[in-house]
Amino acid sequence: MTDRLLIMDDEADFAGFVRKVAEGVGYEVRTTAKPAEFRQWLGAWQPSHIALDLVMPEADGVEMLRILAEAGSRARILIMSGFDARVVDAARRLGMERGLDIVGTLQKPVRLRDLRSLLETNRQEDDAVSEATLGLALADGRIEPFYQPKVDLHSWRPVGFEALVRWRHARLGTLGADDFVPMAEASGQIDALSNAVTTHAIAQAQDWQSQGIDVEIAINLSARNLTEESLADRIDAQCRNSGVRRDRIAFEITETAAMADPVRGLDILTRLRLKGFRLSIDDFGTGYSSLVQLHRLPFSELKIARSFVRECDRSTEARVIVKTIVDLAHNLGMSVVGEGVENEDIACRLAELGCDVGQGYAIARPMEADAVPAWLTHWPQDHPTGLAKA
Ligand code: C2E
Ligand code: MG
Ligand code: MG
Repeated sequence: MTDRLLIMDDEADFAGFVRKVAEGVGYEVRTTAKPAEFRQWLGAWQPSHIALDLVMPEADGVEMLRILAEAGSRARILIMSGFDARVVDAARRLGMERGLDIVGTLQKPVRLRDLRSLLETNRQEDDAVSEATLGLALADGRIEPFYQPKVDLHSWRPVGFEALVRWRHARLGTLGADDFVPMAEASGQIDALSNAVTTHAIAQAQDWQSQGIDVEIAINLSARNLTEESLADRIDAQCRNSGVRRDRIAFEITETAAMADPVRGLDILTRLRLKGFRLSIDDFGTGYSSLVQLHRLPFSELKIARSFVRECDRSTEARVIVKTIVDLAHNLGMSVVGEGVENEDIACRLAELGCDVGQGYAIARPMEADAVPAWLTHWPQDHPTGLAKA
């Protein structure tokens, strides 16, 4: 459902300005200066929002408020006027007494910033997860990663953090990647999403580096990100500008879909590797993350899919598979991460099977960047296994 704004104003220039701003933040818009047409659209088009001028030659806004109240309108109403604040405020109170949802008043001349922010904060669609609201969230910086530790399974030392994207949603709280990454991939917003995460992660690496926290940060890229020719150069420049070492940044390639252009994908990944970034094959053993990819791409790390790891405390078959993958990776000179470490048994089994690094809820859930320094301070005392400390 898109937000629909009906503008009632006789000043064509001003109505055009409001229309442009509203369309820019994702509204569908209609404009009229005629009470009859206003009434007709009120019924036939069911606007979710109304912007009303108080003084017009053919009608007055107070009269229009009465019409809206009689029609039982649930639309969110924005009152605009060239009169002084007291008049506008009196109209607002009147509308509210009639049970209308007056969400704001604007005095002409209206400032672009005020109008846009009023229109943005009052979108009903804000309640939903949609392409339009994801676009706004990206623009407002409400898309940023949480960080989940990866620990060395032999020394228990934290070796890095995986950046996992989250959406701080106004009404739904913090949303996980699975709630919107597939939509971002389908709607062409995945590049913007990955840029937001990469920019955040590199700034975070710089910040931690300056605090003496020496960890690698892993950033997820989906196959659909691997179309932009300049990706490697752009990320390289970001690292150079912030003084972050390339070998402290890894890219986890999540092959959820076949690459649209495999040659270009290979080109981009190889360039990232040549610049000194680390590459990790994610969810190995599922979907497209297969032996073919291992052969084609210069990976430095392999992550065993959660589905095998989860079973390895109970299933002999799962242990055989994990052991085989570990040996394969080691023979190819890669380090191995087991993801989905949900209990102590799994962590111990993985260590026995030669897996280098573990990641999972038993170690820590993904956390806000600000929580990381305290987690690092407490980890050696708090870790769940009671095994040898770092
Ligand atoms: P992934 O890269 O394989 O990330 C691991 C996922 O498993 C994360 O889910 C993480 O929160 C979850 N996880 C970690 N430990 C455990 C555990 O012990 N048990 C269980 N059941 N789950 C665990 P999340 O954050 O919802 O991400 C899901 C997927 O979305 C990721 O899988 C990755 O493929 C994708 N993703 C996440 N962030 C980004 C991003 O910034 N860009 C792109 N393109 N994809 C992303
Ligand atoms: Mg990953
Ligand atoms: Mg994974």
